Amino acid sequence: MKILIVEDELKVAAFIKKGLEENSYEAEIAYDGLTAEKLFQQNKYDLIILDIILPGTGGIQLCRKIKDRSPGLPVLMLTALGTTDDKLAGFDAGANDYLVKPFEFRELLARVKVLIRTAEQHLEAGNKLVAGDLELDLDKKSARRGDTYVDLTAKEFSLLEYFMRNPGRVLSRNDIAEKVWDVSFDFGTNVVDVYVNFLRKKIDKGFDRKLIHTKVGFGYIFGEL
Ligand code: CA
Repeated sequence: MKILIVEDELKVAAFIKKGLEENSYEAEIAYDGLTAEKLFQQNKYDLIILDIILPGTGGIQLCRKIKDRSPGLPVLMLTALGTTDDKLAGFDAGANDYLVKPFEFRELLARVKVLIRTAEQHLEAGNKLVAGDLELDLDKKSARRGDTYVDLTAKEFSLLEYFMRNPGRVLSRNDIAEKVWDVSFDFGTNVVDVYVNFLRKKIDKGFDRKLIHTKVGFGYIFGEL
C-alpha cells in the first residue's frame, strides 16, 4: 500500500510518514502542489493525504485534478481550518474524508484504513450491478442471486441490466421494448411480459423478497420495495 502525503509543514509530514511506515505502509512526501502533481502522474498510489493550504497548487485544486484522473483514488484532506465551509469545499472537490489539525496519529490511521478498505471493495465490485443479494456481472455476463448462479439468455440479461440500472422507477412496457429490444412502438408488448416472466422465474421464484414487481396499468418496478 503506497500513500502520498502532500503537506508543506515538514514536521507534520515527517510525523505522518513515520507513523504510516511503522504500520507497514509505504509513504512519500510532496511538500508542494507541483511536486505532488508530478509524483501523482509518475506513480500509483492507494491513497492521498492532502493538506489544503499549500504553496503552488492548493489542496482543493489538486484534489479536483486527482479526482478527474483517478475518481476511485481515495483522498483524505487535512487542514487547520475546521469550519463547515472548508469541509464542504473539500468534499465538493471530491475529498473522501476530512481531518482537522491537530489530530492524533491513531485517528488518521483509522481513517486511512477505512478509506483504503472501501476503495478495495469498490474495486472488487468492479463491473457489477448489485441489488440486495442479486448480482449481475457485466464482464462475465453472469447473474447470481444469493448462492445460486442463474443462467440467462442474452435478452434476459439485457432486460435484467435495464431493470438494475433503473431501480425503483416505473418502467412501461414501451420503455422496456425501446431500451431492450430497440424497437420504438407497437411492438407486441406481450413479448415484454413473456420475458419479464422468464426473468421472474429465474431470479425471483423461490425467494422471499421479490425484485420484479408489476405496477398494474403502468408496467414494472424493479427493486426491494
Ligand atoms: Ca499547509
